[in-house]
Amino acid sequence: MSTLNPRTTHYEFSGPIGALAITVFLPALAILLNQMIRPDYYIKGLFSNFSWIEVWNRLDPLSSYLFNGELWTYYTTWYFSLALLDVILPGTKLYGVELRDGSKLPYKINGISMSAALCLVLAARYQLTNGEMPELEYLYTHQTDLCIITILFSFALATAVYIASFIPLVKPNKSGTNERILALGGNSGNIIYDWFIGRELNPRLGPLDIKLFSELRPGMLLWLLLNLSCLHHSYKEHGKIIDSLLLINVLQGFYIFDGVLNEEGVLTMMDITTDGFGFMLAFGDLCLVPFTYCLQARYLSVSPIVLGPLNCGLVVSVMLLGYWIFHSSNKQKSEFRQGNLPHMKSIQTERGTKLLCDSWWAVSQHINYFGDLLISLSWCLCTGFQTPLTYYYFFYFTALLLHRQTRDEDKCRKKYGKSWEEYEKKVPYKIIPYVY
Ligand code: NDP
Repeated sequence: MSTLNPRTTHYEFSGPIGALAITVFLPALAILLNQMIRPDYYIKGLFSNFSWIEVWNRLDPLSSYLFNGELWTYYTTWYFSLALLDVILPGTKLYGVELRDGSKLPYKINGISMSAALCLVLAARYQLTNGEMPELEYLYTHQTDLCIITILFSFALATAVYIASFIPLVKPNKSGTNERILALGGNSGNIIYDWFIGRELNPRLGPLDIKLFSELRPGMLLWLLLNLSCLHHSYKEHGKIIDSLLLINVLQGFYIFDGVLNEEGVLTMMDITTDGFGFMLAFGDLCLVPFTYCLQARYLSVSPIVLGPLNCGLVVSVMLLGYWIFHSSNKQKSEFRQGNLPHMKSIQTERGTKLLCDSWWAVSQHINYFGDLLISLSWCLCTGFQTPLTYYYFFYFTALLLHRQTRDEDKCRKKYGKSWEEYEKKVPYKIIPYVY
């Protein structure tokens, strides 16, 4: 048995059965949500007009998506053009965390040049088409179709990286073997489970790191375009810009560019350091992020509301408060771990590292998640109180962060033992101060 890649002995998500259930349930949910907000039919109030006929029977058979040359051409052009740009656009070279063989992978950080390239293309297309932007209109009218294509693409990508994870490396790793470094959680030997969780930790195609690229480029930037497509469509239909729709575009656009431009922060996140790249991340990054995070904008494009300056101000205040907590707490932890804040109270662990328990990190164990939750709430508030459907994102994100917090707690308890228990006594709240 390899010492570099120990067998996974603990299943998450209730093992292969759970992995299979999520593989069916989440894509179905993504399609369902998109079908519930369309120009010709949308959910009102407490789902009083919900209709299975409208939602499922309006879908084409699977074969018409599998063999739809037009949709596949557009999506693969999007994905592979961004991949090509990622490789050729200039950027800074940074190294990730140390891997189990003692090596550190290089990453090209070029979020600025990538964002600039996208803005230039959009501006040029706006000029060339006199503001018509047929590509945005295409996105708007084919939203569910494209959502289904990204699900199929995620299946294919997860399968490709799973198969590639068995191919020995051409150059030996730092331990002197030709093994790829596998994710500690994705090497159970069960095909379905490992395919879902992700077997290889950092699958790469030449210089392209497939996991980092998928996390920050095709999904996040498509989310931005889907939001823009709603704004564009609404403007064409009503001849004016609706404040709530503009606001959601600005708030989410700010968050997207913040993520893309500060990509170095992602290098120390659990997704990059610990999780393998399988169907869970591929589907999350390529389908769930763009096609369900844009639903507030989508809803406002079919059921517009005018918020007025006061409500807009309130929504912006919730977003800014959330962003301040999220950004300053993440920055504080990152600076502390780089040794830049030695005066702050902390717990020395047996592993040699320290657990910060001062300032933001004395308020709750994951105060950064609390900030992120406030941000997600502000986006939902842009839609007013028309239907709980537009609050889907807040509920989904709460569940995601709760699950992440319990996973992280398990990891830290095992890793830091008594020091973690001491930390839990000093900082009892997990996410929301005085509540949880
Ligand atoms: P954290 O940034 O909270 O990182 C957790 C890790 O930090 C732990 O595993 C441990 O790592 C270390 N750590 C924990 N407590 C301390 C402490 N007190 N002092 C020093 N180190 C500590 O979690 P994530 O990586 O999950 O999230 C990062 C950000 O990304 C969050 O703001 C989150 O909200 C956001 N996020 C956003 C998502 C989205 O879809 N928008 C999805 C997921 C996350 P170690 O073992 O190295 O010590």
